Order: sequence, then structure tokens, then C-alpha cells
Amino acid sequence: MAADTELITMTAAQIAAAVASGEVSSVEVTRAHLDRIAQTDVHVRAFLYVAEEAALAAAQAVDDQRTAGQPLGPLAGVPLALKDVFTTTDMPTTCGSRILAGWQPPYDATITARLRQAGVVILGKTNMDEFAMGSSTENSAFGPSHNPWDLSRVPGGSSGGSSAAVAAYQAPLAIGTDTGGSIRQPAAVCGLVGVKPTYGGSSRYGVVAFASSLDTPGPLARTVLDAALLHQAISGHDPRDSTSLDAPVPPVVAAARNPDVAGLRIGVVTELGGEGYASGVLTRFNEAVEVLESLGAKITEVSCPHFSYALPAYYLIAPSECSSNLARFDAMRYGLRVGDDGRASAEEVMSLTRAAGFGAEVKRRIMLGTYALSSGYYDAYYGKAQQVRTLIARDFAAAFEQVDVLISPTTPTTAFSIGERVEDPMAMYLADLATIPGNLAGNAAMSVPCGLAPEDGLPVGLQIMAPVLADDRLYRVGAALEAALDSRRGHPLLAEARGLEGVGGAEQEAGR
Ligand code: GLN
Repeated sequence: MAADTELITMTAAQIAAAVASGEVSSVEVTRAHLDRIAQTDVHVRAFLYVAEEAALAAAQAVDDQRTAGQPLGPLAGVPLALKDVFTTTDMPTTCGSRILAGWQPPYDATITARLRQAGVVILGKTNMDEFAMGSSTENSAFGPSHNPWDLSRVPGGSSGGSSAAVAAYQAPLAIGTDTGGSIRQPAAVCGLVGVKPTYGGSSRYGVVAFASSLDTPGPLARTVLDAALLHQAISGHDPRDSTSLDAPVPPVVAAARNPDVAGLRIGVVTELGGEGYASGVLTRFNEAVEVLESLGAKITEVSCPHFSYALPAYYLIAPSECSSNLARFDAMRYGLRVGDDGRASAEEVMSLTRAAGFGAEVKRRIMLGTYALSSGYYDAYYGKAQQVRTLIARDFAAAFEQVDVLISPTTPTTAFSIGERVEDPMAMYLADLATIPGNLAGNAAMSVPCGLAPEDGLPVGLQIMAPVLADDRLYRVGAALEAALDSRRGHPLLAEARGLEGVGGAEQEAGR
């Protein structure tokens, strides 16, 4: 059945209001999105698992609550796509890896539980780069997802199934995780809002670990307000996560509702945006800076000299942590077990299982990390990278004495073609050039759409970075930019109608 266009193009805020007033039922809205998935996911491949029955049951529960006159939360009845890195008791959790094939977690991640509690309807689990290592979803053991703007391009990564689902109107909301850029980069190249909350602001409990000092769950949405509502719903202290911050959630929803940048000091980062950035990306970024200035923001240029070392530092720290975290996949506790013929030793089974279960990029990272942590090299590599991390945090601290937020393009280029960078890990790593500093320092950061690049008509993202626990500033700036761009050249949603028609349509099937 064709999905109901009116229902799938509603924002999360609109759906929640319509469900609460009884204008539509959550079951109807959920059905429309399930239809949309059935109709388009053969092309987009955003989902690894669709939980049709569970979703309809969750939607029915919200409708029953409403009929019974019980109060509904701000996102009750709204469908959502969940990255397959979050544990779910009623769905498999693969992390995009063969090694977890067949694993059904015994517990829900805190974020999964909070979503259920809030009456959010989980449609299923989305594709991702294996263990969240990558920028394109091409490292998924289950094949890549496709960018709804152009199916021959990547939707970004590692949360690329989540970004593709929202951009293809399969869900108004999705959850991703951002370790080096994996929410902001896919949001940018799919024309979405994506937020990496302050590190520790959203719980890691039940998030399969990649690099624990960096991993941060956060929202993906088509509007700034929707992202804020989801940010609010998943955030707040979690005693089950030792690095969870015991602090009030910044007032993100209020900020999203009050787009006002008059008098706000905005710093453009000198080191992010010159050489290596596509001209179309810079054109749209520079226009957005002018828009912010016209709205009364005070724009200055701010230098963060150590940002140039962020990428190499990240590619020592993240692999080091992953080499330790992924040691748990020992063929005994989870999923896959290879070569267990009753005679093989535990060590042989472990080695055969890891050889068969991990993909090439995961193996590369484990080797890099093991090397960087090994005795004799530790100080020169891991230790040095940690020193760089401190210097980057100091750059941010100095910058935030002069300005309230920093901005840059989110990514150096628009969505690249599937296959274009698979043989060149360095080219792949460069996709996160601008997003990694925020992870290393633990800051809050957002990517917000700022138009389409003139040369290829693909979305460009603008990154906003705010101090730790000042996440609300992201929403203030993001909502102001969104509103201003809306009135100037139409809402990105209108442009996305191209994706709506194109996906599954004759034009794209013709193999563009
Ligand atoms: N693309 C980066 C990497 O491959 C970031 C991934 C992420 O944020 N999970 O490590």
C-alpha cells in the first residue's frame, strides 16, 4: 500500500500534537511509516530489522492511554528509527557485524527504555558501519544504505541507516551515536538536523561500546524543534553509566522555540573550512554566516590552532579504546562461534570466530589500537594523542572566552558516491575532519542544513559547537538559521520532496 503522504511528511511535534488531540491515531501514523518503509526500503536499505508488530502494539498502547484520558508525553505516539548499536530485548542487536549475528540482548539500553517510557514507537533497527567505525555505512556486514537524495551516494555514517530513514520519510525521528561525527556527518549529507549532546549528557548504558570516552548518543530529525524534543526525551543522569553527568538537561526545547541570535557572539573557526573543502560547501556556509549576521549575531573569526591535529589524535585514541572494548567478542559470550568441533581449543575458536566475524575496518582499528597501546609505543602514540586532546580542549576553552558558539561547515564535501572511498581509508577518515574536535573535548555540537551545493544539488550542513552543558545554544542558533533560510529559499523539507518522489520512482530505478 502507498504510504499516506500527509502523515509521513508531518514533523514529530505535529504528530505528537495530533495524536494527543485525537486528530489521528498513533496506529494510523505508525502504519503510514511502515508502509513507507515497505515501499522504499528496497532502494534505501535503511533498516536491518523492522519491528512491525511491536511498533503497532506500542502505538496502540499510546492510543489506549489517550482514550483512557491519561496524559501523554511530548513525543507519545511518534515513530522512530533506532540505530542497531542500542540493545533491545525484543529485537536483534547486530551493530552491523557478523560477530553479533543472532544475538538477542537480555536488557534494554537506557535510551531504548526511555523512548518506550515516553511512548515513542520504535519502528526497528537501522543499518550502520560495523561497530560504528566508518563514515558511509559501507563497513556494515549487511551492505550499504543509500542516500535518499541520490541513491548512488552514501547517506554518511556511521549512523547512515538512521539518517537515510529520516531523509526518506520512513521515520520523523532517529537515534544515532557520535564518536567522531557519526550523527552530524550523516545529518549533513542527508539534509537533516543531527546533534551530538555534551559527552555524558545522554546515557551509554546498553550502547555497544566503540570508544567509551567519546561515544555519545543523540537525535536526528528533519527540524530543529523535533531534534530538541528527542534530545530532551533521552537525556539526563543515568546511574548505570559511570560517565553520565549528574546535571540538569540544558533547556533545549525552550531554545528551539525561541530562535534569537541578536547579540550572540559567533566565532567562525579559521582552521575548519579552507583547503580541502568543496566550493559548494563553502558557498552555502558563507551565505549562512551572512544570514546569521543579518539576524544580529556578532561574527568574528577565531583560531583554534590545535584542531589540525584532531584527526590523527582521534585515530590513535579511538582505535586504542576499541581494541580493548572489542576484546569481549571472544566467541563464548555473544552471537557467532566458528570452528567449535569439540576438539579445537578455546583460543583456536576465538581466533577463527574473530577472523570470520569482524570486517576489514574493525580488524584494522584493533591492530592500530593494540599497537598504539603496546609497551614501548604507548608514550609515543597513545600518550601523545592524549596530550593533543588536552590542547584541543584548551583551544575550545580559550575560544569560548571570546564567543558563545563556534561554527564551521560540518563536512568537507557533500555525499560521496558509494564505492568511491572504500579502498582509501584516509579519504574516508577525512569526512570527520570538522566534527572530531568536538568529540575529543566533549562539547555539544549540531549540524543544521544550510542549503544545497550549487554544483551537485546535494545538502550542505553547518556545524554549531557550544561549551559543555550549553547544548541549548545549539538550538537557539540552529532554529534561527532554520527559520531564516525557510523564509528565504523554502524549507529544506520542500526540497526533500525530491527524495520523496524520487525514491522508488522511475527516475531512480533507471539506475542513476
Ligand atoms: N567516522 C569516524 C570513524 O570512523 C567516526 C565514527 C563515529 O562517530 N562512530 O571512526
